Amino acid sequence: MQISQEKIQEMKDLLEKEHGREFTWEEASDAAYRLAGLAEIMFDSWKEECRRKAKLEENPNGFKLDGVGYTCAICGQGTQAGENWFDKWGIKCTICQNAINKKEIPASLAKHKDGWYTKYDLESAFNLKTPALKSWVKDGVIKSRIVTHNGRGVHTELFLIKDNEGFLPPKKMVKSQLVSEKHEDGSIWHHSEPWYRFVDPFEHLKGYKIMEHVRVIPPEEMKTREEEKKKKEEVRGAKLRAQREARLKNRKFK
Ligand SMILES: [Zn+2]
Repeated sequence: MQISQEKIQEMKDLLEKEHGREFTWEEASDAAYRLAGLAEIMFDSWKEECRRKAKLEENPNGFKLDGVGYTCAICGQGTQAGENWFDKWGIKCTICQNAINKKEIPASLAKHKDGWYTKYDLESAFNLKTPALKSWVKDGVIKSRIVTHNGRGVHTELFLIKDNEGFLPPKKMVKSQLVSEKHEDGSIWHHSEPWYRFVDPFEHLKGYKIMEHVRVIPPEEMKTREEEKKKKEEVRGAKLRAQREARLKNRKFK
């Protein structure tokens, strides 16, 4: 791909206007090529999408896509060669597609990801560990859907909001938030913090039964826990240092 001198000049003017400083020819050319590369990728994926849509019109029940490594919209795993199914709900691995065909889960889940939680979603939103979740399922506190491995065992387990109405809140209510932190050297770091750091969790999720089954650790207890953790780490660190020193002391040539 060749970009004309005029286009690079245009990019240079644009960047200078936007940032209020002078840009070198190299910087402008670099930015122009990056942008063109990005546009090419987007154009390619748009073309691919059009091709799929046209094929879907001829095959309304769906078809297999060529290639490997598509992400399954249900279980999130990458697909192997020939092990995928594409239809109006998106791309699924053949295992999840079989589960849809067997009516273990509705097909619409693939498109409407806000309608269900994975185990991981529940863990990150409520710090809910697998053993606790297992006992909830066993006791009928929460209802899960099992995507079987072609009729056997568990491929993945999902928690639909419509199966747990009044228990699970809409996912957008428990979304983590991006926090920016400015460091001493002026650099800005981003990280995400769970939703319950920004609101009173019981007030925020009032009326959702899940809150009757979770416990929010009070700040004082959190502080004690952190201090204990720090102490343990210090003891461990001192032990490791002592071991290392002992090893060094006993070292000799054979
Ligand atoms: Zn899958």
